[in-house]
Amino acid sequence: MDDLSGEGLSMGLPRRSGDLLQRDEIELPGRRDFLGRALGVTAGLVGVGLTTGTFATPAAAKPSGVQATQSSWRFCQKCFAMYYWGYPTDGVCPAGGAHSAQGYNFVLPYSVPATSTAQPDWRFCQKCFAMYYWGYPTDGVCPAGGAHSAQGYNFVLPHDVPATATAQDRWRFCEKCFAMFYWGYPTDGVCPAFGAHSAQGYNFVLPHW
Ligand SMILES: [Zn+2]
Ligand SMILES: [Zn+2]
Ligand SMILES: [Zn+2]
Repeated sequence: MDDLSGEGLSMGLPRRSGDLLQRDEIELPGRRDFLGRALGVTAGLVGVGLTTGTFATPAAAKPSGVQATQSSWRFCQKCFAMYYWGYPTDGVCPAGGAHSAQGYNFVLPYSVPATSTAQPDWRFCQKCFAMYYWGYPTDGVCPAGGAHSAQGYNFVLPHDVPATATAQDRWRFCEKCFAMFYWGYPTDGVCPAFGAHSAQGYNFVLPHW
């Protein structure tokens, strides 16, 4: 069984920051542009109202929301990954067919500042619908074929804080496919790379309704 506090964390940190720096050099303009657009959404909501219909996404429609969040993220009971359930279809599951939602409706923050207990660069894969870590030079293994492909928000996910009645811990990064998966069962689901997912690094604590 992996150790939450030991080797995984110390191994993960130096490699991550190094890779992030490298990635920033390559992709900073694009990401900054993305952030700017996302912040524009927030400003529009707080201010007088919507300018044009460009951002008519229901995800941002929370009243008085200082923090931007998106709901409809779910646990897949077949592969154990976190995936976006807000579309008419359910993506591609490494266990076969589409993902299958069970349990909580997760409400995940995006475009907020990173902190020592909130990691940025978690993204939606438009090919398989999973939440995966985009902070490395490569994009893991996608069950739809090839690597994951990022679209939309830059999620900033809390980790290593206390679990509560509305925040579930034991969500982990899979070092093989880069997806976020639930590590709280005796087995570790189905990984598109091969076998089961393999946890590394932080213990994510994800808010839900
Ligand atoms: Zn699945
Ligand atoms: Zn994917
Ligand atoms: Zn995996």
